[in-house]
Amino acid sequence: MVQRIVETSDPAGTEALGAELAAGLRDGDVVLVRGELGSGKTTLVRGAARALGVTGPVTSPTFSIGHRYRASRVTVSHLDLYRVGGLEHEDPALLADYLGPGRIAFVEWPSSDDGELANARLWVTLSHGGGDRRRIELGEGSVDDEDGAGLGGRR
Ligand code: ADP
Ligand code: MG
Repeated sequence: MVQRIVETSDPAGTEALGAELAAGLRDGDVVLVRGELGSGKTTLVRGAARALGVTGPVTSPTFSIGHRYRASRVTVSHLDLYRVGGLEHEDPALLADYLGPGRIAFVEWPSSDDGELANARLWVTLSHGGGDRRRIELGEGSVDDEDGAGLGGRR
């Protein structure tokens, strides 16, 4: 179910929403972040990571599936599965470093059949709204159950 729809008009607005979401997250939580390229997924994760106490640069993972950042109370994991296109053919141990106790994980480009991610706490879907505007939908769980498929995710 879509629980909230927010429109932002600049990157700072999207970072602020990330920070707001972060305030409600707990150790072990996973957040699935969907949306087209450039829709602001990494920007939202940056805002969340900052709010969780990450001080260095938060950039898109390029040479690995993810980054891990030490924050005040947890490790913040930031995964981008765009290039692997799903985890079914990957070594499960690959994810173990990023998810679980002591971590809060944000996953860009989750695929629908990643069983490991089915227990996500929240999903967020961003879309372009013209210029710098972005429409951001979010809800609890891993998918928007109403259409059974999530929104804007890679299938
Ligand atoms: P993604 O991870 O979805 O590919 P990024 O967060 O890396 O997207 O990039 C989003 C780009 O769009 C950045 O260059 C950012 O500055 C720009 N941008 C412009 N307006 C917004 C907005 N309202 N929210 C988020 N990003 C925005
Ligand atoms: Mg990104």
